[in-house]
Amino acid sequence: MLVNGNDILLKAREEHYGVGAFNVFDPGMTEAVISSAEETGTPVIAQIIDWNPDAKGFAKKSAAEAKVFMDMLVYRAKIASVPVCIHLDHCTTYEGCIRAIKAGATSVMIDASMKSFEENIEITKKVIEAAHACGVTVEAEIGHVDGHEGDTTGKLYTTPEQAKSFYEATGVDSLAVAIGTVHGIYREAPVLQYDLISELREAIPAPLVMHGASGLVEEQYAKCVERGITKINFATYMMLAGAKAIEDQAAAAKQADQKMFFPGYYMAGVEGMKAIIKEHIGYFKTKAVK
Ligand SMILES: [Zn+2]
Repeated sequence: MLVNGNDILLKAREEHYGVGAFNVFDPGMTEAVISSAEETGTPVIAQIIDWNPDAKGFAKKSAAEAKVFMDMLVYRAKIASVPVCIHLDHCTTYEGCIRAIKAGATSVMIDASMKSFEENIEITKKVIEAAHACGVTVEAEIGHVDGHEGDTTGKLYTTPEQAKSFYEATGVDSLAVAIGTVHGIYREAPVLQYDLISELREAIPAPLVMHGASGLVEEQYAKCVERGITKINFATYMMLAGAKAIEDQAAAAKQADQKMFFPGYYMAGVEGMKAIIKEHIGYFKTKAVK
């Protein structure tokens, strides 16, 4: 069933377990994420991005493609046997958040973490006003999670004082915090600030979100969840696992001198992603729904 962020995250925060937020850019990723959740009986967050015909890479979709994809995703979420939230990841504009809500997203992230604290509060409040009127929940970010393209800023952790004043000014539903992870592939081992997570959980009642969570080890996820992380964004390693499964399939077919057809590669990619998604649902200690 299709639900919003609070429907999944408030219970998870209360009962101290994590919920994975996995990116979905195409039907294969959608099926991998939602069927993994169904097979494990757990709630899940399917993350989209702000599609744009002029964008490069994964964000590039024509208006028609974006519409077809979103209609498919919303339908797949509705018929799922477990709660599924469709969440817009890292959107920097008010307009992008509204477009996603109109297309069927039940949760949006307004990321104004690169702006001043005051501007971040201002735009977050504006998005919340519109989103809440539609029953859609809102995630914001303070501090800064490194790793986006062209990003050269140093480490900037979120402080409990900042979190408290941001929460009091906005009433945001969930908050992405900088606690030592980075986006993408790690070049050096991350230094996670576990005590800071505990202090942040203490400071605000909104669920805490960890970005850049690919590539940590089981024990690190467990500790983050135990200390108070509720939503865990996971994309990079899931996409790498899907690609690796296809490469392996191609190599095996070549070895056996067999012809491969596109559906065979597609299915291998979906299965490769499902394996790592299910593994991480276990690491995040996501509780099954009754
Ligand atoms: Zn992120």
